Amino acid sequence: MIDAVEKQTGSEAVLATLEHSSCTFCDDGVLVRDVYKGNDAVVCANCGVPGAQVW
Ligand SMILES: [Zn+2]
Repeated sequence: MIDAVEKQTGSEAVLATLEHSSCTFCDDGVLVRDVYKGNDAVVCANCGVPGAQVW
């Protein structure tokens, strides 16, 4: 239970950190929070490449 909560919090922190960072796949993209394949993720608003996703 505690581990699950900590994992969730860590995942949230990762997504929060990555949000608004520059896309590594294109020049103009910025990562935004989204859901990718049903999981919380950050994806590029320009090219749609996921910057991170949490399983
Ligand atoms: Zn991009």
